Amino acid sequence: MSYFKDHYEVVIMGGALAGMSAALQLQAKGVKDILILEKHNLPGGLATDFVRNGFEIEATLHEMMSIGEKGNRLKVGQFFDDMGVDIDWLKVPECYRVALPNSGIDAILHDGYERAAKEVDAVVPGTYEKVHELLLLCRRVYDSMNILSVSHMSKLQMLLKHPDFVKTVGYSATEVINTFHLPKKAVEMLTPYWIYVGNRMDDLPFTIYAFLMADYFTGSYVCRGYSHEMSMKLERKVEENGAQFEFKQEVDKILVKDGKVYGVRTKSGYEIHCDYVISAAYPNKVYTQMIEPLSEVPKGAIKMINGLRLSVCPVSVIAVLEGTPEQNGITNYSTFSGSTMDTNEIWENYKNLTEPYNYITTICLNYANPNCVPKGYCQISITALVPVTAFEGLKEEDYFDLKRRLANEMMEECIKITGVDFRPNITEIEVETPVTVSHYVGAWKGSIYGYTHSMDNHVVARLGMKEEDHFIEGLEFACSTGMSGNGMGPAVTNGRAAAKGVLDAKAAKEGK
Ligand SMILES: Cc1cc2nc3c(=O)[nH]c(=O)nc-3n(C[C@H](O)[C@H](O)[C@H](O)COP(=O)(O)OP(=O)(O)OC[C@H]3O[C@@H](n4cnc5c(N)ncnc54)[C@H](O)[C@@H]3O)c2cc1C
Repeated sequence: MSYFKDHYEVVIMGGALAGMSAALQLQAKGVKDILILEKHNLPGGLATDFVRNGFEIEATLHEMMSIGEKGNRLKVGQFFDDMGVDIDWLKVPECYRVALPNSGIDAILHDGYERAAKEVDAVVPGTYEKVHELLLLCRRVYDSMNILSVSHMSKLQMLLKHPDFVKTVGYSATEVINTFHLPKKAVEMLTPYWIYVGNRMDDLPFTIYAFLMADYFTGSYVCRGYSHEMSMKLERKVEENGAQFEFKQEVDKILVKDGKVYGVRTKSGYEIHCDYVISAAYPNKVYTQMIEPLSEVPKGAIKMINGLRLSVCPVSVIAVLEGTPEQNGITNYSTFSGSTMDTNEIWENYKNLTEPYNYITTICLNYANPNCVPKGYCQISITALVPVTAFEGLKEEDYFDLKRRLANEMMEECIKITGVDFRPNITEIEVETPVTVSHYVGAWKGSIYGYTHSMDNHVVARLGMKEEDHFIEGLEFACSTGMSGNGMGPAVTNGRAAAKGVLDAKAAKEGK
């Protein structure tokens, strides 16, 4: 007997945040005949945790954006509420501490645009007005982006209703921030989040910077039950709504005939027919390895993937330490630290594996989720987000030594700020690299953030190319390569966008 029916309306390949959000969105619009195939025995992909010697350890989530407080939700928080996915959100206590000893900066910025501007002013007096205005500009651009992503407007309407978006859309973060004539120190304090999109400020579209700043500075969240809570609750909801969810089923091929999807074949040999496929695998993998027959891959698809630059991949040291955070010299939730905040210099340094990383993020989960470890322990992660190219030439036999060296160097960087050598207190430790990510979820070259947002691959260009970049009828992508880019919040939005692609195609077919 087969697990599967002969035919489904939609097959979703990958049961992580994007895939499950796509399913929920489809179900909300009445599409019920859905099969989700996940290659692991757990849902969630990168939104997961792991257990070592009784310690439950978050694998990824530092800060989830676009949630918002209950009663005043932002886009993703509202979607979860509307779908009946009840997550126990915990607000993280601050945006970040920025510790740059060479610049004489060590300050904590909290959410709230006014409060953050005051905190910058306390370090760089006389900057309050300008910093506040910059954050408000970010917010106006953010609000415009949220509206523009769901509505079609004429150029005139855009000019009239979204002047700040129109004015800033062609400029980089550096170019727009320069118009505020802020002292370097103030700019350095407002730069740390660049790494969460993985592009240097000179090449990062201001709109993306604005999106990050406006969103994160309203406050961000983690889940009491780790990111795995989100994954488990999403899975339960899509199953309650009638989807069939199968684990340990890796899709090997997407079957295409005459430019149109008609099914998938799993690694274990099941051929399952369907009208639509939503893929969590990157277009790079799908168009070079998964379409059967490969002759159905249009040349334009190969040109497109060759023309896009992959974003960053993580090197992350995740550890449980004996002792309280304070005993280990850790006094807050999130710290960006390093020898410089010059993002060009950091980027150059990140490109090689020979120098210690000069910019790291340290998270201590206890400050957002005090019960994340038994009393007397703390859970930390230290992360650098580096270009995927850095690991390309790595030889297999050098991998484990490299992992150990990078982990040790990153801990040494961290200890420069904590002032306490916590290494003797390590109780559990894991080191994640692009190889781990690529191995676990199959993300192309271990990239976690899809394609880089840059001045030549701008959200507006992505919107403009949307139709042209759609190559195979019935095939949609729900992964970090989507329009909304990277991170867990955007993964949810990318999933919803993929569902909209299916719904639009279905409506067109049915002549609605
Ligand atoms: C160390 C680290 C820290 C991070 N920190 C944050 C953070 O603080 N905040 C934040 O917002 N984001 C963070 N991220 C990024 C975030 O985890 C990802 O952007 C997001 O989870 C991606 O979700 P996704 O659904 O697009 O894809 P993925 O989580 O990559 O899931 C893809 C899914 O598809 C499955 N799959 C792939 N191929 C197949 C196939 N052929 N057949 C069947 N199944 C398949 C995989 O098993 C997986 O379940 C972090 C990531 C890492 C690695």
